[in-house]
Amino acid sequence: MIPNKMKAIVIPRAGTTEVREMSVPVPGDGEVLIRLRHCMICTWEQRIFKGEDVALPFVPGHEVSGEVAYIPESTVCDLKVGDPCVVKTFDSCGQCEFCRRGMDNLCKGKKKKRIYDGIPGSGGMAEYIAISSDRIFKLPGRNADLEAAAFSEPLACCLHSMEQAQLSFGEDVVIVGGGIMGQLHVLLAKLSGARVILVEPDERRRGVALSIGAHDVIDPVGEDAEAEILKLTDSRGPHAVIFTVNNLKLAGDYIKILANKGRLVYYGSFHPKNDIPFSPNEIHYSEKVITGSYSPTVKAFWQATQLLGKNLIDVHPLLSEKYDMADAETAFNRALSMETFRVLIHLNGSGD
Ligand SMILES: [Zn+2]
Ligand SMILES: [Zn+2]
Repeated sequence: MIPNKMKAIVIPRAGTTEVREMSVPVPGDGEVLIRLRHCMICTWEQRIFKGEDVALPFVPGHEVSGEVAYIPESTVCDLKVGDPCVVKTFDSCGQCEFCRRGMDNLCKGKKKKRIYDGIPGSGGMAEYIAISSDRIFKLPGRNADLEAAAFSEPLACCLHSMEQAQLSFGEDVVIVGGGIMGQLHVLLAKLSGARVILVEPDERRRGVALSIGAHDVIDPVGEDAEAEILKLTDSRGPHAVIFTVNNLKLAGDYIKILANKGRLVYYGSFHPKNDIPFSPNEIHYSEKVITGSYSPTVKAFWQATQLLGKNLIDVHPLLSEKYDMADAETAFNRALSMETFRVLIHLNGSGD
C-alpha cells in the first residue's frame, strides 16, 4: 500500500532542519515511485544547510538508495516492485547535443523541477520519490546492501573523474586531499592498477587511506610535498593528479609537478572563485592535459551500482555515522565536521 502522506526533511532556514508531513509524489507517465531507505549528506547539502547555493526552504538530498514501490501502468520498464535500486536525482534532458553524445553530465537542456507541497527540492531526503524509469538503476546481486548503495552518486562522480584521469596499469597517481572524495578516488585508483600517492595533512585521514589501499601518503605540512612526490616518481612527476581540495594556490602548483603528457583533473569546485597564473608554453612543451570533472554521467552511475552491488569495492570504512530523520540537524552538523566522511540518514519508508 502506498500512503498519501510521507515524511520529508526540509531546510526552512540556515542551520536548521524540520521533518514535515508532505504528499507522496504521484508518478506520471514513464515514471516510477521509489521508497527511499537511505540518504547521505553531500558537500552540496552542507552548503544548503549553511544557507548557500539555493533559496530556502528546500528539500535536500541526492545520494540515495531504496526500492521500487509502485509502477503505473503507463510506465513501460523492466523494473519490478521490490527491486533494490538507486536513483540519479539530478536530471539531464536526453535531447541536447551533450546528452546525445554521452556527456549528459554537461547537459545544457531544460531539466524537470521537483516540488514538494510548494517547496522545491532535489528530493532525496523524503520517504518517496517519483522519477523517470531511466534514472533508476537496479542493484545487481542477491542481498543488496542499501546503505553501501547510497554511495552510488559520490562514487559515480569519482568514476567519471577517473575516466578523465585515464590511468594505465603501473602509472603513478597523486590524489590531493583525503576527504571523502579523495578516499573514494584512492579505492578506484587502487582498482585501476596504479600506484596511489595521497597528499593530506590530517594524520587520521592518511591512516584511513593507507588502510583502504593507498601505497604512499605525504603530509604536506610536515614534509615538502613536491620534493617527496618527485622523489617517489624518479623526478618525472606523477602521470596523473586528481585534485580534490578547495585551494587555488595548490591548484597552480600541481600543474608544474605533473609528468610530460600527464593528466590533471580538478575534481572539486573552488569557492570563492578566482584565477591562477598559467603558462601556455608549459603546456605546449609538455603536452600536459588539464581538465575537470563535473557531476557523473549515466555511464558512471551504472558503473558505480555494479561496483557496489557486486561488492567489488568496500565503502564501509567511509560510512562514519548514521541517524534517523528526527535527528537530521545533528546529522548535518556532524557532516560539517572534519571527523566524518559520509553521514547517512535513515528514511524509514512509512505505510508498510
Ligand atoms: Zn553528492
Ligand atoms: Zn541534455
